Amino acid sequence: MTVRTRVAPSPTGDPHVGTAYVALFNYCFAKKHGGQFILRIEDTDQVRSTASSERMILEALRWVGLSWDEGPDVGGPHGPYRQSERAELYQEAAATLLDSGHAFRCFMTADELTEARAAHQASGATQSMISPYTDLPRAESDARAAAGDAFVIRLRTPREGTCVIQDRLRGAIEVPWDQVDQQVLLKSDGFPTYHLANVVDDHHMAITHVLRGEEWISSAPKHQLLYQAFGWQMPELVHLPLLRNPDKSKLSKRKNPTSILYYQRMGFLPEALLNYLGRMAWSMPDEREQFDLSEMLEHFDLDRISLGGPVFDVTKLEWLNGVWLRDGLTEDEYAQRVMDWAFNREFLGQIIPLVRQRANKLTDLAPLASFFLQGLIDLKPEDLQGFKGIESDDETRRILTWSLWHLEALAEWEADGIQAVLREMAEIMGVKLRVLLAPFFVALSGQRSSTPLFQTMGILGKDIVRARIRHAVDTLAPISKKEQGRWQKAYDQAVAAHVAALAAQG
Ligand code: GLU
Repeated sequence: MTVRTRVAPSPTGDPHVGTAYVALFNYCFAKKHGGQFILRIEDTDQVRSTASSERMILEALRWVGLSWDEGPDVGGPHGPYRQSERAELYQEAAATLLDSGHAFRCFMTADELTEARAAHQASGATQSMISPYTDLPRAESDARAAAGDAFVIRLRTPREGTCVIQDRLRGAIEVPWDQVDQQVLLKSDGFPTYHLANVVDDHHMAITHVLRGEEWISSAPKHQLLYQAFGWQMPELVHLPLLRNPDKSKLSKRKNPTSILYYQRMGFLPEALLNYLGRMAWSMPDEREQFDLSEMLEHFDLDRISLGGPVFDVTKLEWLNGVWLRDGLTEDEYAQRVMDWAFNREFLGQIIPLVRQRANKLTDLAPLASFFLQGLIDLKPEDLQGFKGIESDDETRRILTWSLWHLEALAEWEADGIQAVLREMAEIMGVKLRVLLAPFFVALSGQRSSTPLFQTMGILGKDIVRARIRHAVDTLAPISKKEQGRWQKAYDQAVAAHVAALAAQG
């Protein structure tokens, strides 16, 4: 048997360090066994998936030093490697399940579903909800579908007994069947959900081992049921422990930068980041901290994975990065890294248009543009005080925080979109745009005036902007839990009122 593993990111956002972590372990396991490692794009969520996210994920994984034998960019014998290009396969698979009785059509409307869910919850039932269409005779189901009634296709699940899942790291995991829901497999628009597409693709791509985050354990019973229904061999499951914030909660961008782009922009070396991810849940037999990919590969062994929640601690990563910077590179390599990082045409090419009108000599450029090359900006509370039109520190903190929340929804991080979001935020908060933007200049550049703000934010990138804004807010006073709740509620209400007002205007 040839070992074949895969990483299957959904292109719905920035490239996440967790994706690189899972990819690294899949890569090592496949290569250790002389097998193949595949990259598959799971873009069944048509609304949230974007081409730019896919491109960034591929670039980021390559940047950390990983490569794959098959994938959307390199092709391969089991393609296409993008789920949106495989729709027919899933529809056929769903039809097979309907015919064999392992799945059924459910004709509930969205409103009916919401109501049924509420009633189910109110009833205090511990078992999963059952669709009223579970046992609809096939002829009737066919007739309704032929008449054009909208439906989804759901998985038929046993209601009695216990499902037993084998996980390579955890052994047998038992789940009562009556807690497994009748998962939607095919949506009313004919697109598959993750579960159907994932199983169908793992089978057709001859995947032998699935290494993925432990958040997917709860999906395993449904997947097992699907493999049995199709009569396919299920890959071996290896659920890797989730990365955690230092407070042990699940790694989240609210508490920690999670985008690989952030670490790239901050001047971390790809070797150091990959090395650090290799130290999440795994260790070298001699416990050495610094190692490269080939060394990890040489010693890789699933039995050395430990299940205690690995903490992704930026301070430790910084330490390891320092080791790499000091001892891991020749002088030439070092110079090359600095060029790759920021001293290159592409990056300078973005900054120069913003500063050239203000420089008489090239030496004027450095002070004008230095904040593009910095990490967090050194600020004192008084730097963020005395803005015209802003009454208090709390007002400044609220402006920055609400704006940051508002910016989170932006799909493409670029100047025009940023401007539109901040303009809207000013309207929602009832302040002049000029007033709203003043603290941004300081938070981002350390100065009261700097390069054009929206372009500047575009170049700095979402994660650096988020980190600097948070740092500015913290410089005045960190947001307390109570404040967080209160502000979130007020923000939601203000946004809703704004939307309603716009609707009323027609
Ligand atoms: N598309 C899923 C994700 O985004 C893949 C999960 C899996 O590996 O099965 O993580």
